[in-house]
Amino acid sequence: MTDNVTFTDEQRHYLEGLMSGANAARALRGMPTLSQAMAGLAAPAQTPVALTASAAGPDTPAIEAQDKVIAAGGKLCKEEKAKRDKNALDMWDEMADRAAAGEFPKGTDVFLMKYHGLFHVAPAQNSYMCRLRLPGGILSAAQFRGIADIAENYGGGYTHVTTRANLQIREIAPENPLNVYTGLADLGVIIRGSGSDNIRNVTASPTAGIDPQELINTLPLAKQMHHYILNHREMYGLPRKFNIAFEGGGAIASLADTNDIGFAAVRVDEASATDALPAGVYFRLELGGITGHKDFARDTGVILRPGQCVKVAAAIVRVFVRSGDRTNRNKARLKYVLDDWGFDKFIAEVEKEYGEALPRFDLDKCEPRGPVDPLAHLGVHPQQQAGLNYVGVVVPVGKLTCEQMRGLAKIADEFGSGTIRLTVWQNLLISDVADADVETAKRRLEAIGLHWSATNVRAGLVACTGNTGCKFAASDTKTHATAIADHLDAALQLDHPINIHLTGCHHSCAQHYIGDIGLLASKVSRGDDMVEAYHIHVGGGYGANQSIAREIYRDVTADEAPAVIERMLAGYQQHREAADETFSAFTRRHDLDELRKIFDAADQLAAP
Ligand code: SF4
Repeated sequence: MTDNVTFTDEQRHYLEGLMSGANAARALRGMPTLSQAMAGLAAPAQTPVALTASAAGPDTPAIEAQDKVIAAGGKLCKEEKAKRDKNALDMWDEMADRAAAGEFPKGTDVFLMKYHGLFHVAPAQNSYMCRLRLPGGILSAAQFRGIADIAENYGGGYTHVTTRANLQIREIAPENPLNVYTGLADLGVIIRGSGSDNIRNVTASPTAGIDPQELINTLPLAKQMHHYILNHREMYGLPRKFNIAFEGGGAIASLADTNDIGFAAVRVDEASATDALPAGVYFRLELGGITGHKDFARDTGVILRPGQCVKVAAAIVRVFVRSGDRTNRNKARLKYVLDDWGFDKFIAEVEKEYGEALPRFDLDKCEPRGPVDPLAHLGVHPQQQAGLNYVGVVVPVGKLTCEQMRGLAKIADEFGSGTIRLTVWQNLLISDVADADVETAKRRLEAIGLHWSATNVRAGLVACTGNTGCKFAASDTKTHATAIADHLDAALQLDHPINIHLTGCHHSCAQHYIGDIGLLASKVSRGDDMVEAYHIHVGGGYGANQSIAREIYRDVTADEAPAVIERMLAGYQQHREAADETFSAFTRRHDLDELRKIFDAADQLAAP
């Protein structure tokens, strides 16, 4: 007699994934699937592409997309072939064996291990880097302390805050990647899918739930999206990486328009409301942001109730899994499907997948978003909860020692609610600090070598990992960012905050195209040597100030860059139309030749 067993959705997805992996492996060896085996059937006749769709369960859409390329005579790129040969989610045993042997992965296994958040980053460092997943960038002091312990026990004794409000642990020895993985899991930090062709850390407004200006608390949506991804294996079948952000309308920009999917909160007032769309808070659906390819997410005209967002995002991902390019990595992002199809065709496919029409509503009938404050991520700011404040802490070029992390956790526990919030500006906030405790919390930050205020140069200084930890980097971005800030702070005084973004390669993790000043690393010959240099861009922006920066100088050596940027800022201060004209607005008023003339002629300003 057989008992009837009912599984939860989570159990069902887990079992489907397990079956899929087992069947894929059996098919590759010419064995029948498990259900065929149980029915006493032989393996079907095999062809080189035989395992695929029917045996693959939730992996089917990705394999069918690959089949389609092959059937059309196309050639899968090497990463797609690697994914086809071995499902990255089924390699736990070999990762464990490799760790036991103290070995690093080789060949395409390096790529596949990133599905588990583990990056072998040689030759930059002959070690693993582990990238976490922290939905909304918000974590508890206990988690923060636990991550510090892991980074100390198994890593280099520090972490990096990333531009996706996330953390990375570096310098992990070959024996320890799974110790890091399981240690994080014990803390409730599940990192599966934080690298390679996956949906990356889902971001939200860092002040979700505490910002007096926000329209809606976006943290629950970021968490729902995160768990949806973890529990739907088909969300791991993408042709390339994918970013999703929820923007609640608070004072700190979360850069939703730089994501593949940006959900931007808006209010529809009584005057604009209709029967179908009553007054209230909704999300505009923006698609196709990828600033490294010089494109922002654009408004689709679709407006969604908050409760629709996660399932609509999943439908978008499923359409992308079927339609994204699997032959050319440079064209494998959502932007290129949108460029090819246009919004109308793409949204029609999403509606089919979602199962109903998505409502449209004119953007200009929605209330404009509240203002972004470029300094709201630093210093003390009152929360929507009376008598409570958040304290924005500067994290110079995103690096924290484990000792500082423990100190921050202690401050968050003693003076706040034990909550730490990371931002896309590579810093963090401690929230829920009572008015009476603010000054003490500040002193305690100073005691651990951190500060809550920064100069107008350092407030918006963002740098990617650079060549001390990333093999793609042409330069040491973090060191050069610090050198630029040191030079500018000594040489001039700015009355407006300025964003300077340094990125080590065209992947543009530090989003150089949206900086007021954006630096993209290069190498240039000097005598017999190649030295580190930058192409310098001006006039980038985001949100209401959206603009892709233009390249003004090429191959400026790293040691010359601080003085060149000083001249640029001096020229701006001498020639701006009014004291409130921003650097970006100033640069956009001029063509590049005019700007070069102004900057070349600029007197250096007197030191403050
Ligand atoms: Fe590495 Fe390039 Fe990203 Fe910098 S931008 S962290 S160099 S991949």
